[in-house]
Amino acid sequence: MQQIDKIYIDGEFATPHGEEMFDLFNPATEQVIGRVRLADEDDANRAVAAARRAFASFSRTSKSERLDLLQSMIRALEAREDDLYEAIVDEYGSPVSRARLMAKYAPVAIGEAAKVLRQYDFTQRINASELVMQPVGVAGIITPWNANALFICNKFATALAAGCTAVIKPSEMSAIQTQIVTEALHEAGLPAGVLNIVTGRGEVVGATISAHPDIAKISFTGSTAVGKTIWRAGADTLKRITLELGGKSPFIVLDDANFAEAVPFALQAGFVNNGQACGAGTRILVPQSRVKEFEALIGTAAGNIRSGDPRDPATVIGPLVSEKQWNRVQRYIRVGIDEGARLLTGGEGRPDGHQSGWFVRPTVFTDVRNDMTIAREEIFGPVLSIITYRDLEEAIAIANDTTYGLQAYVVSADPARAREVAARIDAGRVLINGLAQDLAVPFGGFKQSGIGRELGTLGIEAYLEPKGVMTAV
Ligand code: NAD
Repeated sequence: MQQIDKIYIDGEFATPHGEEMFDLFNPATEQVIGRVRLADEDDANRAVAAARRAFASFSRTSKSERLDLLQSMIRALEAREDDLYEAIVDEYGSPVSRARLMAKYAPVAIGEAAKVLRQYDFTQRINASELVMQPVGVAGIITPWNANALFICNKFATALAAGCTAVIKPSEMSAIQTQIVTEALHEAGLPAGVLNIVTGRGEVVGATISAHPDIAKISFTGSTAVGKTIWRAGADTLKRITLELGGKSPFIVLDDANFAEAVPFALQAGFVNNGQACGAGTRILVPQSRVKEFEALIGTAAGNIRSGDPRDPATVIGPLVSEKQWNRVQRYIRVGIDEGARLLTGGEGRPDGHQSGWFVRPTVFTDVRNDMTIAREEIFGPVLSIITYRDLEEAIAIANDTTYGLQAYVVSADPARAREVAARIDAGRVLINGLAQDLAVPFGGFKQSGIGRELGTLGIEAYLEPKGVMTAV
């Protein structure tokens, strides 16, 4: 049982002023595996003050000083890969293959920020003038539980690359992962106050940061509902804001697609991260003329997917993160049935052989209309909906008929045709014929999937304020 009773402020591990203890669970066993002492408003205020003090000098550091720090952070995180991997499996229920990837990705994300910094020109010339990109100020960073270490590393590395200092409010449910990342970043030898990490409740620490006058910018990843609250909280002080929110991504199977390839790809896109992924392809759009063929293949394939012990290498879907999340997913499955969708595979309850653990059955609904609840709301679990379309125009209309716009997928035998479809989809990222991702390409959402972009040049510029400098001659 791990006890976490320190937060990180001004270069030191400190006892929080907050006294609430919060249980940490292993979702595969439902056992308490740790307890974390949560920070409160006082702690958040102290962290902001430390970050503000540090900003004065850190904002004037050179590119090479920041690059050295990023390299040091990469080395420190790489040295903790195994610890992080264990924590991701135990605290989050990630299947081992994905947990290894997520543990490796934390330092990789820092490396991406370093690449952007290396090539970025903070002073651009326009005619006889200069456009200087200046660090915006103290960044408030708020992360969700579904890839906590990766989000901390990606956001903080980008803020640091830009010359900002930061106060981070990680998910309280991921405190073991946060502790490992904090220890590693402490080892990296950052100047005091550049990094501050205060684990606490969203409505306490998150809300304090979101409204604090000394926070210039918020970078938030999480649900659309909380994103809107944070935006409102920052409005009084006109905070710069990046919101990476939820999704209900369409997975468009064109009529020429090879289903032997499309079906496994659809299942990977839908069940990624135990179905708890913002970009999961949860609405599968299939041509009416070929839906029987698609149903037969996906029903069999999904029925063979192992949902269970995350430490079993054959497991594809581990448990959901919490009891609350398990209940929420069960409720959506019930709503899908009640609204008239037909279960092709899966359904309510745990997979066979499990009496405990927050395990769910990989579930695929068919005969889903795009106006049903399960097609409109983000479920955040392994529950997919097959929706048919008559022609390409209808497919595109259904794909775009959503309040979200984070990611989309197109599968076709003809990549040029798939790209034409991609051009008409309102989403921040479109994946054609595969799940290949590219961390150099900015990521973010259209519509209510977010505001702004992370990664790449747009990602660093989200932490910079442009200043025109003109000299009279
Ligand atoms: P959440 O919105 O419940 O919580 C996210 C973070 O916000 C947590 O740290 C939480 O403590 C904090 N928070 C809660 N209330 C707050 C408040 N009033 N003020 C400030 N902070 C507050 O999300 P979650 O359940 O942790 O994560 C799942 C959600 O995240 C899903 O909707 C998913 O789509 C989204 N997500 C988006 C992306 C993306 O890049 N677009 C990536 C991963 C997850």
